[in-house]
Formats: sequence, structure tokens, C-alpha cells
Amino acid sequence: MMLELDDVHAGYRRLEILHGLSLHVDQGEIVSLIGANGAGKTTTLRAIAGLVPTSRGHIRLDGQDVQNRAPHRIVRSGLVHVAQDRALFGHLQVVENLEMGAYTQSRSTVRSSLEEVYELFPILQERRLQRADTMSGGQQQMLAIGRALMARPTCLTLDEPSVGLAPNLVAQVLEAISRIRDTGVTVLIVEQNASQALAISDRAYVIESGSIVLEGKASDLADDPRVREAYLGV
Ligand code: ATP
Repeated sequence: MMLELDDVHAGYRRLEILHGLSLHVDQGEIVSLIGANGAGKTTTLRAIAGLVPTSRGHIRLDGQDVQNRAPHRIVRSGLVHVAQDRALFGHLQVVENLEMGAYTQSRSTVRSSLEEVYELFPILQERRLQRADTMSGGQQQMLAIGRALMARPTCLTLDEPSVGLAPNLVAQVLEAISRIRDTGVTVLIVEQNASQALAISDRAYVIESGSIVLEGKASDLADDPRVREAYLGV
């Protein structure tokens, strides 16, 4: 297992949001976490990234306990989180944003990482000198993912990467995530576009009120009447 959550309790001050959540992601898998608004999807990803404290349970990355480690140490352990708000440096150029993502890396790896990111998202190379805040929503999302890749993660978590994007860009971003997995990166993804996320996923979990209530192969969940009715709008 690359990433494992075992009976995780986590939340905000005294407000517990995750009530004993368990899930795992195997090396090289794409796993989706789906659920209604407020179910705790973002909190789960934030707990993994060290941004929300856990009060009980274990979070293991490649076998090592990482719960309650500082966020920058989790990045060094190989897990990078792409937050929903993207958190780009708007006044900096595209290439400067990418370089910021590589702060844990040596100079020589920065160059090869940049080449890999430009191969994945050619638009970022074309726009490399443009200010990040003048890019379109889709381009900014590609930049946020590209910046995460600059840290050379073994595991990537993504919080609603397609939010606010036009349908053709949603497909492009999800297709890029699929190609990132093909390079060996393990992916955990939260998506509003659940059916499109399931289409690129190996497995999925359904979260309700801070616990996992259903899990299975992504294709099985996509056909499950309960999932179709509650989360796929079918
Ligand atoms: P959404 O799709 O709306 O983002 P979600 O499944 O990602 O939903 P979370 O954002 O994890 O859900 O929120 C779970 C619960 O935690 C909600 O009841 C929310 O109000 C609460 N919550 C989120 N952030 C905080 C915070 N900083 N302080 C207190 N409560 C919070």
C-alpha cells in the first residue's frame, strides 16, 4: 500500500469531522473519493497532507506513520496535495510557480522535472513567462498540478481539479491525471464530476458524514444504483 488511512479521526478544534475513516491506495492506482457536500472529502485530503490534525488513527505513506507530521515534511516524504483553490502565486510567472514547487529538489532535477511537466502540459511551456493570474481557469489548474509534480511526488492528492472548468478542459485535466499515474505516481482524487473521475479510477470509496460507507472497483460503483442516484445524478 502506498497510502493507508486506518481508523482516522480528525477535525477542527473540538469538532470531529472524520469518525474513524479507513481507506487505502495501492502503488500506481487512481482512487476516487466521492460524497455529498460537507461529507468530509476535503477534510480527508487535508488530514493526509498534514493540514488538519488527527486525534486518533494512523496515516501511513509507504509504510511510514505520517499522521500529524508538518505539511512540509509530508511533501518531503513524497506526498503532494493540490488544493481546490490551487494557491498559485498569481503575480509570478508560470515558470516561477513551477520552480517554487521544486523547493525540495536539487538544481539538476529541476530542469528534468520542468521538461516532464512541459511535455504533459505544452501550454505551460508556451505561456512560461506569463503571469499566473492572467491564465484561464483550466491553465491555472494545469499549472497547480504541474507545480505539484515539480516536487517529484510518489503520491498525489487532488481536491476537485475540474471545479469551474469547461467540459472539454475537465476531460483534458482528467486525461492528464491518468497519464501522471502511467508514470508511476499514485493518485487519490476528490471530484464533483464523479462519473468522469470514476472513468479514470481503478477503485473508489463513498464517504458519508465522515466515514466510508461503500467501496469497490470504480466500474462497479459507477453501475451501482445507490451511487448512480445519489452521486451521479442518474
Ligand atoms: P465540499 O464538497 O462541500 O467541499 P467536503 O466533503 O469536501 O464538501 P469538507 O470540506 O471536508 O466536506 O467539510 C466537512 C465538514 O467540515 C463540513 O460540515 C464543514 O462545514 C466543516 N468544516 C470544513 N472546514 C472547516 C473549518 N475550517 N472549521 C470548522 N469546520 C469546518
